[in-house]
Amino acid sequence: MKTKLFLLTLALLSANAQAKLNVVATIPDFGAIAEEIGGDKVKVTSIARGTEDAHFVDARPSYVRVLNQADVLIEGGAELEIGWLPPLVNGARNGKILSDAPGHVILSRGIRLLGVPSGPVDRSMGDVHPFGNPHYWTDPANGKIMASTLTETFSRLDPVNAAFYQANLKKFNEHLDKKIAEWTKLLDPYRGTRVVTYHKSFDYFLERFGLDLAGTIESKPGVEPSPSYVNTLIPRLKATSAKLVMIEPYRPRKTSEYVAQAIGAKLLALPTSVGGNEKVKDYSSLFDYNVAQIVAALKDSK
Ligand SMILES: [Zn+2]
Repeated sequence: MKTKLFLLTLALLSANAQAKLNVVATIPDFGAIAEEIGGDKVKVTSIARGTEDAHFVDARPSYVRVLNQADVLIEGGAELEIGWLPPLVNGARNGKILSDAPGHVILSRGIRLLGVPSGPVDRSMGDVHPFGNPHYWTDPANGKIMASTLTETFSRLDPVNAAFYQANLKKFNEHLDKKIAEWTKLLDPYRGTRVVTYHKSFDYFLERFGLDLAGTIESKPGVEPSPSYVNTLIPRLKATSAKLVMIEPYRPRKTSEYVAQAIGAKLLALPTSVGGNEKVKDYSSLFDYNVAQIVAALKDSK
């Protein structure tokens, strides 16, 4: 009996030592970075798919159960997920991931947000960026800040493996630094090129690589343009001599094609998230793919 108990205790102890941190990320980009930092010490589930608009995710109710079991919830903040995450978190009844709990991570902390309104917040007309632009993961340099936040969280919740997380952070940063230098060099000949986007999804990417945002097809973030708005927009965009129209894969193709053609620009549908297409498998390949597409498009247009 004693031996049995002893063996059972040992088994429980080792199971406990090997228990992985159960991490849930709102979007796959946060999940992908969490996987690189957490390695085999974490189990990561991402709620949104890479082909979805992060503002309007069709989250199945089954995610309530997933969140109920989570040790860590990673969200973007700046109201990125305000339209769909709160009911899931409320339903999950999990104290570990409530705001202020150590397992609740808001990744926008420590990141310089673009487009933060200087005056009072105006949410009229459905503006989905009331506290600034939440698409900061499209600047790979912000990936390093996000990775560092996750390293701190994982180390606090699982101090035994802190050195492991720290080593992964170092590897992640070194790889990203090398890649950022490569991407910068590839895009350098196109510095100052004007680009139109559908939504303000690529602002951080454009800023990082010296491309200029000439305007957006949406009248306001999250507000679909009416046909008459599009017609007033075209002469304004044409005057900027924009060379590219960059849209996310889930945007209406017809309107975007119409605008691109009318202003004499090329249309590119580019993923904004990991999993946005089959080639974008991790955080760094998101930029490998997008940089290659942009270079190819601009090369021909020269
Ligand atoms: Zn947005």
